Parts: sequence; structure tokens; C-alpha cells
Amino acid sequence: AELQLHQAQKMEAIGRLTGGLAHDLNNKLQVISAQIDTALRRLKNEPAVSKGLLSAAVAADRCAELITKLLAFARNDEAQPTVIDLEEALVSITALLDRSLLGDSVELKLDVASDLWPIEIDASHFEAALVNLVVNARDAMPDGGTIVIGARNVKAGEARLVDPRLAGDCVEIRAIDTGVGIAPEHIDKVIEPFFTTKPAGKGTGLGLSQVYGLVTGAGGVLLFDSAPGEGTTVSLYIPRARVEARIGAPGLDEPIEDEA
Ligand code: ADP
Repeated sequence: AELQLHQAQKMEAIGRLTGGLAHDLNNKLQVISAQIDTALRRLKNEPAVSKGLLSAAVAADRCAELITKLLAFARNDEAQPTVIDLEEALVSITALLDRSLLGDSVELKLDVASDLWPIEIDASHFEAALVNLVVNARDAMPDGGTIVIGARNVKAGEARLVDPRLAGDCVEIRAIDTGVGIAPEHIDKVIEPFFTTKPAGKGTGLGLSQVYGLVTGAGGVLLFDSAPGEGTTVSLYIPRARVEARIGAPGLDEPIEDEA
């Protein structure tokens, strides 16, 4: 619990910091980029100088990308949760994840149980989280392999056994890969903002901390299970949305009963 609190405070501090800084940085970066463009146009006939300027332009673009990610990260507290149909969301998100993202040797499969309970979550953040999980799984399988996105209902009794912080019915969403796995000494660090083992320019270390923020913000729990050389399973447990959240009727305050 202490670790969770520490993590939450750290996330909040970074969110506050980046929210303010990112706007300033973005403005200054635009000045830099515009000046580089002007200089490039004027120095068309000086290849040696242009080459240096071009790499400066690329670096500025990369900074802009990073700032966009930091802003998205900082905006986490502006999440707008709505009740979503999970199966529909998973089908439409995975449809976006085509060959251009996965490469030729990575297979993506959906394994979604029928009659999934609805969950209440920010739809666009949820989409971003799943894309992050799939990109991580892909990166963990340089020689190819299979990613399975699974989802099923988990009744309160089972959820409690999974993690004592889960107090009621939940939906379990999993990303399972057959990749390199997470080293045991890294497993506690992967959700930390800026922790990455990817080469500079490839990883920001913000993906899983965003997933963590999303899941805990929705009252859920995020778990990792990984065996080096065999693969990784990332499991998101999100509480079942209450019926009144769907129909918008006020006053009902009891958790809904199991229909099954
Ligand atoms: P990034 O992807 O930018 O590195 P993340 O926060 O998404 O940032 O991930 C942090 C680190 O966690 C990764 O650099 C990698 O070392 C590890 N990781 C995440 N997902 C997986 C996975 N499916 N298999 C192996 N390692 C993973």
C-alpha cells in the first residue's frame, strides 16, 4: 500500500510538472523549428550546413513528439469516463492494429468471452492503453510470435482471490505475448514514469505508467506476470459498471446482482 501511495504521489507530481512545462516548451520549440526552416531555405547551396540543420530539425520534431506524450500523460486527470461496450471497443481497437504496426511475423488474436459486463472508463485513454500494450508485446518479440488480447468477466469472489484490493465484480482484460519477458529486477519498475529498456528514440517509458494511471483511476488493478524467455501477461482488472451508470438513472446505489 505504501508503494502504491508513493507511486501515486510521484505520478501526480510529474503530471503537474509536465502540464505546466510542456506548454512553454512547445512554444519555444515552434520558434526553433521555424528558424531552422528559414535557415534551411536560405542555405540551400551549402550542403554541409544544411545537413547539420536537417538533423537539428529532426531532433526538434522528436522533442515535439515527446512533449505531446508528456501532455497526454499530464492530462490523465482530465479523463472523461463513460460506460463502454467492451467487446465492441476491443474489436474496433484491434482492427486498427494492422500489419503496418505489427510487422509480418507477429500475429494478433482476440479471445473475448461473450456477454462481457460494461465498464466505465475514458474510451480514448483505453484505446491508447491497449495500443501501448500491443506495441510493447510486439517489441518483446523481435523474432515474431503471437499476441492474444483476452477479456472475460470475473465474479467478486474470484476477483478477491486475484487481488484483495478488488472488492466486487470485475472484467479482466489481458495482453499475452510469447516474447522475451520482463527481467525479475525490472518487474517493479516498469510502471514508473520514464522507465524504459528500449533504445533512445524508441521508448519513452510512459506507456505503462499511463496504463497504470488509467486502471487505478477506474478503481481497478494492474498486474504483471512474466517469465524471461517465455513471455509476459499484463492483466487489467476493471470494476463492472453499475446499471445506473448505463441508463443514467439516479438514486440506485446498490451494486448490481449477478445474472449468471
Ligand atoms: P516504453 O515502451 O516506452 O519502454 P513502457 O512504460 O510501455 O515504456 O514500458 C516500460 C518497459 O517495460 C519497457 O521498456 C520494457 O522493458 C518493459 N516491458 C513492457 N511491456 C513488456 C512486454 N510485453 N514484454 C517485455 N517487456 C516489457
